[in-house]
Amino acid sequence: MDRRKSVLVVVAHADDMEFLAAGTVARFVDEKGYAVYEYILTDNSKGSYRLSSKDLIEVSAREAVEAGNVLGLKEVRLEGYPDGDLNEVHPNVLRGKIMAMIREVKADIVMSWDPFAPYEDHPDHRMAAMATLEAAAFASNPLFYPEHPHPPHMVTEAYWFAKSPLNADKFVDIAGTLDKKIAALLKHDCQMVLTVDALVREADALGVDVPILKDLGPEGHRPIIDMGIRQFCAATGAKASTSMEYAEQFRYQKLGSLDNLLGTDFVKPDF
Ligand SMILES: [Zn+2]
Repeated sequence: MDRRKSVLVVVAHADDMEFLAAGTVARFVDEKGYAVYEYILTDNSKGSYRLSSKDLIEVSAREAVEAGNVLGLKEVRLEGYPDGDLNEVHPNVLRGKIMAMIREVKADIVMSWDPFAPYEDHPDHRMAAMATLEAAAFASNPLFYPEHPHPPHMVTEAYWFAKSPLNADKFVDIAGTLDKKIAALLKHDCQMVLTVDALVREADALGVDVPILKDLGPEGHRPIIDMGIRQFCAATGAKASTSMEYAEQFRYQKLGSLDNLLGTDFVKPDF
């Protein structure tokens, strides 16, 4: 029988996972019965043209939990560092926080921003990425953070995602979970409003006329997100070696070296 793995998704912001990995996460939960935990490092307090930071912290936290419920996550944990300023946290402190959660949930798989993908403009994404890589790489070493309450633990697989992926070698067919991914994304109402507000500002800045962005009512962002995600995942699926209707893409990494050393395949990707 297949082993039930534990999966830890580490992100900077409440909706990061839903944009790039929620279809795959839903397959881990629904098909494999894996326990998936999400660790959101910031308080999301800069993600709006409309709400105050104070209101955003509260609203985005509630929406993150609702999205996690749609996906069947075991837990959504919010660390609450100030949004946009993750680079003010010492990298080794951030790494230690993530490593503590890896050890607590005994993560077999980590998913996060790819620390080596190019052109990432968000400092929080870059910080989350490198700290997660280091935490996963050394979580089994008892001399790293010996004060942690849970024992060292070996992570064996990583799925790295990115806005501009480099060397993506794992395309996951999400045709069966695309609707759930979109439903989870739409639970992040304040962030989806932000996404569409930014598009409206971009059209204004360019002086171009985009009819679908005109006269949007309170629910007007929803069909735009739905359409955009379908297009994005279809374009990803078209890039897979065996074409898929809808896909998410990752750079997949085996973190141990047993397979390399022995020429075995003890570590098997699920998809
Ligand atoms: Zn983000």
